[in-house]
Amino acid sequence: MSAITTQRVTSIRHWNDTLFSFTTTRAPGLRFRNGHFIMVGLPVAGKPLMRAYSIASPNHAEELEFFSIKVPDGALTSRLQHLSEGDEVLVGSKAVGTLVLDDLRPGRNLYLLATGTGLAPFMSLVRDLEVYERFERVVLVHGVRYVSELAYAEELQVHLPNDEYLGEQVARRLVYYPTCTREPFKVTGRIPELIRSGRLANDLGLPLLSPASDRVMICGNSPALAEIRAELDARGFEASPCTGDAGDYVFERAFVET
Ligand SMILES: Cc1cc2nc3c(=O)[nH]c(=O)nc-3n(C[C@H](O)[C@H](O)[C@H](O)COP(=O)(O)OP(=O)(O)OC[C@H]3O[C@@H](n4cnc5c(N)ncnc54)[C@H](O)[C@@H]3O)c2cc1C
Repeated sequence: MSAITTQRVTSIRHWNDTLFSFTTTRAPGLRFRNGHFIMVGLPVAGKPLMRAYSIASPNHAEELEFFSIKVPDGALTSRLQHLSEGDEVLVGSKAVGTLVLDDLRPGRNLYLLATGTGLAPFMSLVRDLEVYERFERVVLVHGVRYVSELAYAEELQVHLPNDEYLGEQVARRLVYYPTCTREPFKVTGRIPELIRSGRLANDLGLPLLSPASDRVMICGNSPALAEIRAELDARGFEASPCTGDAGDYVFERAFVET
C-alpha cells in the first residue's frame, strides 16, 4: 500500500459550528489498534495537506470514522468541514499512537479522560469488546466548554448500551461522565479539578484514584494534559515509558498548540 491512500466520504455529521464527524471507506490492507491515530488530508495546490487524526471507529469496523474540529482559518479544517458524501479524502496507510491498552498494566477500573476532540480515540476503544474484557469498569470523562460540544453523548448513553453485541458489557461496565466548563450543566468542573477535589470519585461512588486499582488514558489539549498528569503523578501513578513497557497511564495530545 502506498503511504497515502484515497478514500471516499460515506457520511458526515455536524455537531455544531465548531465540530463535525465523518466516515470514510477503509483501505482493505489498513490495520490499526484501537486508540491509534493516522494522517488525514486533502490535496491542496496539487500536494497532500495532511494532519494527524485519531481514529474514532473500532478496528473491527468496515469504515473509518473521524471526529474533527473546525478551525475557521485552519489550513486543513477550513476545507475539510465542507466535505460532502462521496468526496475523496486522503488517508495515510500507517496508524500509530500511545493510547493503546497493551501499554497499561492490568487494573480494575480504566479512566478515559478526554477534553474536546480528545474523545475520538476513546470512541474507538469503547466500541470494542476488548476494553470490557480487561477492566471491570470503564469511566469515560469528556470535558468540554459548551453543552453542544458533547458529541457522541447519545451514542454513549442510548445506542451503545442497547447494541446487539456490546450492549450487555457496556450497560454493566461503561460509565459516561460529561462535564462543561462554560455554561450550566450537571457537572461544571475541569477534569484536573474534579480529580483533585475528589468530586469525580465521589459522584461515581468509587474510591479516590489510586495506582493500586486504576489505570488512566488521557487525550486532550496540552494544559489539561499537563495538569491531569501532575494529579496522577502526585498520587504515585507511573506513565508508560512508551518503549513497550506498560505503565499506570498513557497519554496523547489531541492537537499541537502553537
Ligand atoms: C496525535 C494527534 C491526534 C489528533 N487527533 C485529532 C482528532 O481526532 N480530531 C481533530 O479535530 N484534531 C486532531 N488533531 C489535530 C489535527 O492534527 C489538526 O490540528 C486539526 O485538524 C486542525 O488542522 P488545521 O490545518 O485546520 O489547523 P492547524 O493549523 O493544524 O491548527 C490551528 C490551530 O487550531 C487549534 N487546534 C487544532 N486542532 C484542534 C483540536 N482538535 N481542538 C482544538 N483546537 C485545535 C490549535 O490551536 C492549532 O494551533 C490531532 C493532533 C495530533 C498531534
